[in-house]
Amino acid sequence: MKLLCVYYIILLRDSDCHCSIVPNIVEFLLNHWKASIDDDCETKMKKKSTTLITTILIIAISVFTCFTLSSAEDPGAGPFAQVSGLRWTDDAKNPKNPDSIYPYVSHADLSPAGVAYSGYDESRLNIILDELKPYEKKAADDKVILNTETALPLLLDSLFEETDRLNTQLSLLDIKYYKDANNEEISDLSAKYADQNVAISDECFQVLRDILKGPNGALLKEKLTDEEEEFLATYEDMTAREKKLYNKETKLVQKYDKLLLNCSDPKEDNREFTQILSDLVKVRNQIAHIYGYDNYPDYAYNEIYCRDYSSDDAAALYADVKKYIVPLYVASCDKFYHSDVQAIFDYDDSGDTILERIAPYIGQIHPELKTSFNYLRRFHMYDIDDSPQKLDVGFTTDLPEYGSPYIFNKPYCEAADYSVTIHEFGHFNAGFHHKDHSLLMSEGSYDIAEIQSQGLELLFLEYYDELFGDSADVVESETISNILAGIVTGCMYDEFQQELFANPDMSGKEMNALAAKLADEYGLIDAGYTSKDLAHYDWVQVSHTYESPMYYISYATSALSALDIWAESLDDRNSAVDKYMKISAVDLDKAYLEGLKECGLRNIFEDGVVKDIAETIKPAVQ
Ligand SMILES: [Zn+2]
Repeated sequence: MKLLCVYYIILLRDSDCHCSIVPNIVEFLLNHWKASIDDDCETKMKKKSTTLITTILIIAISVFTCFTLSSAEDPGAGPFAQVSGLRWTDDAKNPKNPDSIYPYVSHADLSPAGVAYSGYDESRLNIILDELKPYEKKAADDKVILNTETALPLLLDSLFEETDRLNTQLSLLDIKYYKDANNEEISDLSAKYADQNVAISDECFQVLRDILKGPNGALLKEKLTDEEEEFLATYEDMTAREKKLYNKETKLVQKYDKLLLNCSDPKEDNREFTQILSDLVKVRNQIAHIYGYDNYPDYAYNEIYCRDYSSDDAAALYADVKKYIVPLYVASCDKFYHSDVQAIFDYDDSGDTILERIAPYIGQIHPELKTSFNYLRRFHMYDIDDSPQKLDVGFTTDLPEYGSPYIFNKPYCEAADYSVTIHEFGHFNAGFHHKDHSLLMSEGSYDIAEIQSQGLELLFLEYYDELFGDSADVVESETISNILAGIVTGCMYDEFQQELFANPDMSGKEMNALAAKLADEYGLIDAGYTSKDLAHYDWVQVSHTYESPMYYISYATSALSALDIWAESLDDRNSAVDKYMKISAVDLDKAYLEGLKECGLRNIFEDGVVKDIAETIKPAVQ
């Protein structure tokens, strides 16, 4: 059942950080204030329409470079300064901080040249797989297998290390693709490797499953978590039909990416956008049927996103959000419009400047956040400056060979880039402190991952006066509006996608009408984000609908929990920070409600919780 999870890891490793979001409020201005803004402002605002976010995942093993001990001090002269001789460690093993909230994970000491795609040669992996196959059965001849207890564990480690290397190169290739999505050569290479890796992963899982079920299974079990063991034990070979469906899905998503990148008018390209989506819906419903589900949403909720709440729970949440959050969202946008909006464009800062300016506050929130932040800067694990070739996405992905995540973003070129950077760092920090075999890594809980990012964004509001001076109010208003937009649109797109998969023959015209109806019900028209006419067409710019359907509800659930933390911080900051740090350490294979309980956070599906959150933050929002 987890096959598709694995597939997604391969295909969407780039977008496994589907973070972002949500309509940035600046777009509202384009629609409604266009006449009143100056040319420079307008140019900047046009740069971005929708941001994807993404993240996730967990971190794996640093293959060749597992070091112990080092300084986690500020990086000083720049990201590449003092690299030579560095050794990184987690505070858990540092005697000065034995009570670290995070588990011990080692990280690579990288070169000053940074990281880049260098290609991957499959031959080594094929040799390892060939060497492993004889261990599926009891050795008939001792000459074939000389010492199983010694050799098999070493071979298994080699397999995990090699697939970490492969997945790291895949992530780096994805980054390269997003840097220049119109480059045919990179795009073709990316598609080719996506296809190849479906087959490679399939072969790895078959070999491991057969070893697990064979006489040497106990040796493999020692290296697996319970979830990994269950996954392998129930793994079924991918059929030719499945491979064909996955490959078809990849090509449709890439077709969408290109259309989006080159689209200047969603209305003009609407027929093509809706046709691609219609084709994707049919492919995905077929995938769900293979795994015994009546519809794709239930399949995705259970098998891809591993949620412990249902589509029915989500439907009840839609109603709460329409009643209590939508009015707050509309009021928050109204407040933003009536502020000195142009001030946000004074903060068109470079990535390095943003990181340097937020650096002093990272440790003030909690000292343990400094370790990963310093690593991020020292080894330049980010690409967050603007470039016209970049696709409009922002995400944090995983480089398991190095034991580190990597942040990619196309900035808005205004103050929101601060909150986006803080958001992505929330993902980076969480990923930095977790490790797992990338081969067996599941998608994990986006609902928790997005609390790790959005919770940090909201805790940072405390420092906005120092960061933005007289502009603090307008920037804060923008940040809060974007968080509320995450809740509103999280429910709206989930409701849209539920309808879409329930009616796979829906015409393009009907899709447009549904999108417009929901935009009205969720307050997007009242908030000025879109108009009644635009709402028919601008929904295609939210790439999650194409790349990772049923993902969006995670923005709503996580943002509500992030607001729950912020609401508590208004009264008791230490307690709120404590809960945030706990959630930042939660492994993403933990389901959402289970994770909330573990950190002392409320279940947002319980009666009255959404209403209470809305009432608590209302005075600060309006
Ligand atoms: Zn995110």
